[in-house]
Amino acid sequence: MLASKSFIPILKNNPAEAKIKSHKLMLRVGMIKQSSAGIYSWLPLGFKIMKKIEKIVREEQDSIGAQEMLMPTIQSSDIWKESGRYDDYGEEMLRIKDRQNREMLYGPTNEELITEIFRSSVKSYKSLPQLLYHIQWKFRDELRPRFGIMRCREFYMKDAYSFDLNDEEANFSYNKFFLAYLNTFKRLNLAAIPMAADTGPIGGNLSHEFVILADTGESKIYTDKRIFNVNFTESVIEKKSLKVLRDNFEKYYAVTDEKFNKDEFEKIVPQEHRLITKGIEVGHIFYFGDKYSKPMKASVDYQGKKTFVKMGSYGVGVSRLVGAIIEAKYDDKNEIMKWPVPIAPYECVILDSGNKASGESMSKNALHLMDKLKDIDLIVDDTDDNISSKIKKFNLIGVPYQIILGSKTPDDSFEFRETGEESKIIKIDELSKIKKLIIDKRS
Ligand code: ATP
Ligand code: MG
Repeated sequence: MLASKSFIPILKNNPAEAKIKSHKLMLRVGMIKQSSAGIYSWLPLGFKIMKKIEKIVREEQDSIGAQEMLMPTIQSSDIWKESGRYDDYGEEMLRIKDRQNREMLYGPTNEELITEIFRSSVKSYKSLPQLLYHIQWKFRDELRPRFGIMRCREFYMKDAYSFDLNDEEANFSYNKFFLAYLNTFKRLNLAAIPMAADTGPIGGNLSHEFVILADTGESKIYTDKRIFNVNFTESVIEKKSLKVLRDNFEKYYAVTDEKFNKDEFEKIVPQEHRLITKGIEVGHIFYFGDKYSKPMKASVDYQGKKTFVKMGSYGVGVSRLVGAIIEAKYDDKNEIMKWPVPIAPYECVILDSGNKASGESMSKNALHLMDKLKDIDLIVDDTDDNISSKIKKFNLIGVPYQIILGSKTPDDSFEFRETGEESKIIKIDELSKIKKLIIDKRS
């Protein structure tokens, strides 16, 4: 990709309306554009990052045997009346009428719709478990949309649903998602802690929020710091080891505001391990048994009886993650962002000073490197900007590796650096080393 042809509408200064770093940066480098309050267009740069995050989220869902599908954004109110949530959900739900005067809604979540799909097709316990997911836009008419795409009205979510015969099997499904979430956030280079959480309007009695630490987060968290050191490398999906895995985390006190109890906290967590701070909720998993299957009559035949299936639901804020990663990684003071390679908008940028003598926008070396780096996700800044403004621009965009071809760089070499670090002079015929370094960082 050539920067001169790309659609990356960078602003000269930080936008005044943005209060937190992710919102500032996303507007500044043209990742998103607000279309109305809490509703955004995703421009190419932001969209590319979100798609890379989505891919990782998807791979980890697939790896526990969840099956991808796609449900619509618009739902009929009928199923929500069946579950009893049509009235309960309140003003966050965007209610619409079609031309036949039918009550429709823009889905804020999909428990009802997936239950309806399940009950009309699955009849026998032998088809269980079923783990189904989709990645789809949601709409919640938030009272105060704020912080850009972190708390907006239309957002992109991965939501999964599990159906099991009994509590024990359902717990196993829950633990599979627990593992998938740990693996997802690890691959995104985020330290996300699973915290015992409230179930809110989804209902139920078992729930974890996955929260990453950030000053600008809206969730207050109380935790034992040792939870950050819990290691996991589960490769086999098996009941016993997944239970041990969850126990290893649950051993440590970690709760959000709703579940916090001061006496309990002080009793359980030794003073030196206590951490009270703020975080961003990036995922939330729930187990709620037959809360939906019972009123909606989703059952399977088991030992001659109809048994209501036991359900859980599992959300990841795919679009919120873009902002959350910026909150975690962006160095606001020095204006330097560095995306982890697996989700970087480009893996490497060539910052070229062009060929002044012949008036060409690209130097011979830039053309040569571009040709040799075909299997790297590359952007070449061939614009008329001078080298230092190109560096500044790409420090902000956060492409993790920079190749600099300045007017003083020797003809057989280039400058190379990891964004934000010191640069080194590398001989052009040693390019394969650089290539390998970048490719190794992909996983
Ligand atoms: P919050 O407490 O932040 O309002 P929630 O508990 O209402 O979120 P869930 O129903 O658990 O949200 O949704 C699953 C995930 O979707 C959340 O963990 C979050 O990452 C994301 N999400 C929820 N609401 C929003 C929003 N308004 N804007 C962006 N992402 C959101
Ligand atoms: Mg939640």
